Order: sequence, then structure tokens, then C-alpha cells
Amino acid sequence: MTARTVRNLIDGAWVESITGRTLERRNPADVREVVSTFPESDAKDAEAAVSAVAAGWQEWADTSPEQRAKVLESAAAALERQRDELIVELVREEGKTRAEATMEVSRTPMNLRYYAGEAMRTAGVTLPTGDGSLVFTLRAPVGVVAAITPWNFPLNIPSRKLGPALAAGNGVVFKPSEVTPLLGQRLVDALLEGGLPAGAIAVLHGGAEAASALVTDERVDAVTFTGSTNVGEAIHRVSRASQRTQLEMGGKNPVLVLEDADLDRAATLIAKGAFGLAGQACTGTSRVIVHDAVHDELVERIAAKARALRVGPGLADGVDLGPQATERQQQSVLGYVARALDTGATLVAGGPDDDDQDLTAGDLAHGIYVRPTVFTDVDPTSELATQEVFGPVLAVLRVQSFDEALQVADATRFGLSAGIVTRDIGRAMSFARRVGAGLVKVNQPTTGQAMNAPFGGLKDSSTQTSKEQAGDSMMSFYTVDKTVYLSA
Ligand code: NAD
Repeated sequence: MTARTVRNLIDGAWVESITGRTLERRNPADVREVVSTFPESDAKDAEAAVSAVAAGWQEWADTSPEQRAKVLESAAAALERQRDELIVELVREEGKTRAEATMEVSRTPMNLRYYAGEAMRTAGVTLPTGDGSLVFTLRAPVGVVAAITPWNFPLNIPSRKLGPALAAGNGVVFKPSEVTPLLGQRLVDALLEGGLPAGAIAVLHGGAEAASALVTDERVDAVTFTGSTNVGEAIHRVSRASQRTQLEMGGKNPVLVLEDADLDRAATLIAKGAFGLAGQACTGTSRVIVHDAVHDELVERIAAKARALRVGPGLADGVDLGPQATERQQQSVLGYVARALDTGATLVAGGPDDDDQDLTAGDLAHGIYVRPTVFTDVDPTSELATQEVFGPVLAVLRVQSFDEALQVADATRFGLSAGIVTRDIGRAMSFARRVGAGLVKVNQPTTGQAMNAPFGGLKDSSTQTSKEQAGDSMMSFYTVDKTVYLSA
């Protein structure tokens, strides 16, 4: 397949970076194949992108809610028409399996439709007065929004930012991940095809330099970011007090398995949460906190499931886990595995040398893979137990009681998703009330969410500014309220 050329969108024109520098993205299942080339933008490109949207967004803000809803609806329909092509592009560029890519490509138009509805529902309030005058709140767009996104859901996550930002009438400078530029462009293509005026959007490709220049540009009124906690905190440090920031960040998501749990069910949902998306989900299960009484039986079941999973190219039949997205990602994950081995954790499945599936043979040798890996005897204070690995590596921690399990669950800085497997509804409710996580799953994988349910973390996983997919709460982030006093 030929490589696609991706460009920045500035002032309605698809352009190269000012320096002419480019980067390329290769297929992580076959690094010999270039999927796309794209601009390596710098601060000057960011400046031009913000200038274009600062000059153009008001025209979009002046459109009616019906018009904005229609654009989002039409973009959703365009994505649906291109469904099959997008699924293949998503697998090639990011590395998901076909089934995982199908879910994302199906979800994205639904997100746009959800926010098309919000465009029609966004309203202010009127307040009683004693003198016959009218006091009401007027909701207006914030202005220029920078949307900075990660690679692991390159359509779904941007659609949950561009959808509400545009529904509210803002202009957006969109900085897709440098790992998935083509999918970023495809979303914008659909919005333009749906009738979005070019002044309402700019697209800026590249990495940290371009992205951080957006945050520090005084004309950028709001920054919505999803990515790692380290980068989110760097954005927080340089943003202005008056600049709205929504930062959705990393996780270290636990599943508690109590002594009364159905262990087959527990192993199934843990394997799904830990190894689905090759472990590259922000809500992926990375810790199992299990009661001593059922520890060994559970570990045996999880390890058997891990060993049975096949890694390989996402478009091939029978593949359960695609590649890691980048070599840097793979090396980082393998680094955690090596250090866990060095520090005495016990490897019960996967790891670097498991010869169940030879990753150096045939087509697999050209991909960037990590086997589903399970460790027991993990020190609860070790990096494997406390830091986000963002790969298919599971740490099993043994506890003696429910209270200890809760304490271990909360012993990290993260608070995105947390699960419990139990038949005891009282303990499940107690867990839901007490655990420090924004998503609580009872007898369900830590991954997966309803498209119309509020989504976001607690603790260092999120600024908790607003929840995505939370209707009016999300629209509040993208609008300002003015209080108007009106006398005839
Ligand atoms: P990342 O933080 O490396 O990059 C995210 C985006 O930030 C990219 O577009 C990148 O170019 C940009 N960026 C890099 N440096 C920057 C800087 N100094 N200033 C501004 N922007 C900068 O994350 P990633 O590797 O793309 O994605 C994986 C991470 O995202 C994981 O930590 C994962 O947990 C997290 N994530 C969180 C959620 C959530 O909803 N909480 C969802 C998906 C992914």
C-alpha cells in the first residue's frame, strides 16, 4: 500500500510545515511499510494555526445551533460511509486488531451525533427580578480551543473533544498525536465534508514543540488534552490562570478479586482488561489485587489465558493482540519487565523469552510486539505496582482482607478506573464509595464504557474539570456564561 501524505490545515489550505521538515509513520505490525508522511511543525506553524482560527472562529460562532448540529451529523455520516477504509487505516497506522478498530470506527460517529444533540440543548437560565427587567445568562463559546490528543484512540478521543468544542461554536486548533497523523486528518476531512467552515479549524501535526507552543499562545482560550500524566502536568505548569484546561491522563487500574469471586469470570474479565488493545488502554487493567485464599487458583487461570493469546498483525485472522504502537513504547514496556525480573517478581506468563510464540520468526519479526505478561510476588511499592506501564503486563498482588485490598488499590497516584469481582453486593457498594477512581466496575473489565456515560478519572489521572460524554457538564467547559441585565 502506498504511503499517504498528510499536511497541516491552516486558513483552509493543506500545507507543509514552514521549515518543510517532515516525519514518517510506519506500520507497527511491519515497520518496513511507511503509512504516512506528515509535517514536523514547530512554534512558527503553531503561531500560524492559532492566527487562522483566531481570525476565523467568530463566523462559526455566529451560526445557529441547528447548523452546527447538521455539520456534526453530516461528518458522522461521512465517517460511516468510509467505515471499511478507516478500519484498515486504523489497523495499519496504530496497530489495533480489526475487531478493536471496528469498535472505534463505529463509536466515533456516535460521539459526533451525541454532541450534535448537545448543540441544540445548550441553554442559559432566566432569573426573577422585582422591577420588571430581565436578568438572564447568555452562553457563548470560549473562543479558540487547542485539542491535543494521544495515539491510542486516534478517532474516538479527538471526536469527544472536537465534537463538543464545535457544537458550542468554538474554533479548534487540533494537534493529533504524531503517532497517528493520518487518522487525525481523516476526522477533519469528515468535518470539512460535513460543511465545517475552514476558519473554524486548523490542524497542526508534529510533537511536543508544536503542542507546547499552542498552550503558551495567549490567544488560546482553552486547552483540552488527553495523554500521559507527565505531559499533562507539563501543560498545567505553563498554562495561564485564565486559560481553561481539561487534562485527562494516565492510570494504574486495579481489579480486586475477593475470596467469594467466580474465578473463571474474574480471569476472563482481567485478561480482557489487561491484554485487550495490547495493554494500551488508559483504563487497562494493570494490577490484580487478590485475596490470599484464591490467589493461586486465580493466577493459574489468568496465566493460562495469557499464554493462549496470539500476538500478530491486526488484519490477520486469529490474532488477539496487535503490536505496541512504537518501538519506544515497546522498549519502555520491556524495560519494566526486565527490572521486575531483576527485583524478584515471579514471571508466570509471557515475558521476554517465552517460546510459546516466537516473536522473531516470519512476519512477526517485522512488528513491534510484547507478549501478554503476568507477574506475581510483586512488591506493592515497586515501579511495576505503582507506575503506568501502558503495555500488556499485569502485576498480581496478594492481600489478606478487603480493607487491605482497598488500601493497596489506592496506593498509587492514579485514579482512573477500578474494578472488583465479588458476589457480595455490600462490598461492591462499599468499594464503589471508597475507591479513588473515576470509573468503578463491578464484575466487569476496567476497560470499556457506555458512549453516553460520564468519563474521567480522579487523583492524578485528571484535572476533573469536566467529564467527557457528560452532556451539559462537558458543554460548560466549552462555553462561557455572561449574566445579562436587560431593561426595555
Ligand atoms: P503523551 O502524553 O506522550 O502525548 C499526548 C499528546 O501530547 C501528543 O499529541 C503529544 O504530541 C503531545 N505532547 C507531548 N509533549 C507535549 C508538551 N510538552 N506540551 C503539550 N503537548 C505535548 O501520551 P501518548 O503516548 O500519546 O498516549 C498515552 C498516554 O495517554 C497514556 O498515559 C494513557 O494513559 C493516556 N490516555 C489517557 C486517557 C484518559 O482518558 N485519561 C485516554 C487515552 C490515553
